[in-house]
Amino acid sequence: MGSRRNFIEKLTISAVGLPLLYRPTSLFAESVKPYEGPVLKVAIMGLGSYGTRVAEAMQSCQRAKLVGVISGTPSKVVDWQAKYNIPKKNCYDYGNFGAIKDNPDIDAVYVITPNGLHHDHAIGVAKAGKHVICEKPMAVNAMEAQEMVDACKAANVKLLIGYRMHFEPKTVEVIRMRKEGEFGKPKFFQGQSGFVIGDPTQWRLNKALSGGGAMMDIGIYSINGARYMLGEEPIWVTAQETKTDPVKFKEGIDETIQFQMGFPSGAVASCLSTYAMNYLDRFYLVGENGFAEMQPSTGYGPIKGRTHKGELDQPHTTHQTLQMDGIAGIIFENKSPIVPIDGEEGVKDMKIVDAIFLAAKTGKRVDL
Ligand code: NAD
Repeated sequence: MGSRRNFIEKLTISAVGLPLLYRPTSLFAESVKPYEGPVLKVAIMGLGSYGTRVAEAMQSCQRAKLVGVISGTPSKVVDWQAKYNIPKKNCYDYGNFGAIKDNPDIDAVYVITPNGLHHDHAIGVAKAGKHVICEKPMAVNAMEAQEMVDACKAANVKLLIGYRMHFEPKTVEVIRMRKEGEFGKPKFFQGQSGFVIGDPTQWRLNKALSGGGAMMDIGIYSINGARYMLGEEPIWVTAQETKTDPVKFKEGIDETIQFQMGFPSGAVASCLSTYAMNYLDRFYLVGENGFAEMQPSTGYGPIKGRTHKGELDQPHTTHQTLQMDGIAGIIFENKSPIVPIDGEEGVKDMKIVDAIFLAAKTGKRVDL
């Protein structure tokens, strides 16, 4: 019921722009037809703040449904069972979730635990024969990431990374424009990703659980963004690190890193990743014949942006709703988003993260 109500709400919003008398009836006749295809049955592993956001967004999905949980906190399981009508037989903890292999009511597990646990959790899910959806960063380095790809291949399950921006309408429009040459040859990308992190005891500042600091958490948006905005893979990186608070940002936890990337066409990117400044969520792409500016560019939205042709006016829809419906399309129909979200895409980002850390440490350019 909830999803149908939300669907109709969305439809109403999208139709508001049309004068009442001229609404084409065929639009309504077609759009209200209930979805009758397969529904992806998903269990969420890690019922923290982002897991909660995904669960809420999934209530509006047409093609994906939250049916199970994996958690180490029994009280959360009870709350989620009541809130989302989850049967006891679909509830697991970190010790017994391998038994999910015998549960035909779960198709995929969405791993939303701290970064340092993604590798083992994702491989555990793959061994249980279920598709893996894994949050970013997919692992704490490229070697772990590749092992995850290999394990999912061996188990014949899909591995998809939680790159929600690949489904976001304004982002998709800029990528379409770039692909169709509307900016001319892309020349320059600027990515700024940052916020001021709070509680010094949180896992994001603990190397074993996070794998690093701002770069793993937020800088990765600029890395991934540079790749999808320019449409190329970098061939070298340089990087410079600054740390103003060595107590909060211990060894292996980066506070601020500026980095640059060079691409085969000669395009360059200049990016900032930080846990020490707010108001940094901006992408800027310059081509020979045009530009795209997005700010905010990767937050939960609404994303705002303009190009040399004017404002981007695609409607805002909750990113995770679009993402999870899109993932059902990938799994059931082998569809691909405008930029893929598979494990190999995640490995590409992790190789760049590794190279940035090495470049920051050595002060030298690192070739990829
Ligand atoms: P969180 O701390 O709110 O939640 C983490 C969950 O993992 C908690 O429920 C916690 O109980 C559980 N957990 C299991 N084992 C744990 C352990 N050993 N130590 C600590 N927690 C443990 O974190 P979050 O913000 O939900 O982030 C989780 C993942 O989601 C991260 O990988 C993060 O990068 C990603 N994330 C992605 C987005 C996005 O927009 N795509 C946004 C936020 C977070």
